[in-house]
Amino acid sequence: MEIRLPRDALVVLVGPAGCGKSTFAARHFLPTQVVASDACRALVSDDESNPASSRDAFALMHLIIGMRLKRGRLTVADATNVRAEKRGELLEIARRHRRPAAAIVFELPEAVCQERNRARGRVLPPQAIRAQLRGLRESLPRLADEGFSAVWVLHSAEETEAASVRIS
Ligand code: ATP
Ligand code: MG
Repeated sequence: MEIRLPRDALVVLVGPAGCGKSTFAARHFLPTQVVASDACRALVSDDESNPASSRDAFALMHLIIGMRLKRGRLTVADATNVRAEKRGELLEIARRHRRPAAAIVFELPEAVCQERNRARGRVLPPQAIRAQLRGLRESLPRLADEGFSAVWVLHSAEETEAASVRIS
């Protein structure tokens, strides 16, 4: 699959915790193009997994995304974004700056997500991953209607591995 993205787009990664979003982002985008909620949490609290700093972390994340979109710089929003409400906040920022928003969805088999979650330093309970994946699958049919100009869905580890990104 060739994922085609406009050069002024907001790219919203969507996938359960630990599914490989940041790894994918590091592989296909410049570090400065990727705005991650974890990094913003670390910036405000020295702890990228501190839930108490989430509110400020997302405020910072949204501020940076808006400043980049104002300049027409391609920007990747790296957070789970499995809830429509969180995606809606990002879509609103793209709309405000008249930029297209594309979604890259990691709809990987649950076994792959659980395995990757286990392999990580910060492990979430398996039920949390399952719930995020279920929420994601339920919202998938309506994603285009939320306001994304394109929705790219990765269905397997192989498809993710083989995917390329073209920015034009
Ligand atoms: P979070 O939502 O918590 O930020 P994430 O979706 O960004 O998680 P990553 O941190 O990219 O996930 O990856 C989670 C784990 O899965 C890491 O241990 C990583 O090495 C592994 N992983 C990610 N992508 C791949 C891949 N393509 N092949 C094998 N392992 C992978
Ligand atoms: Mg990540």
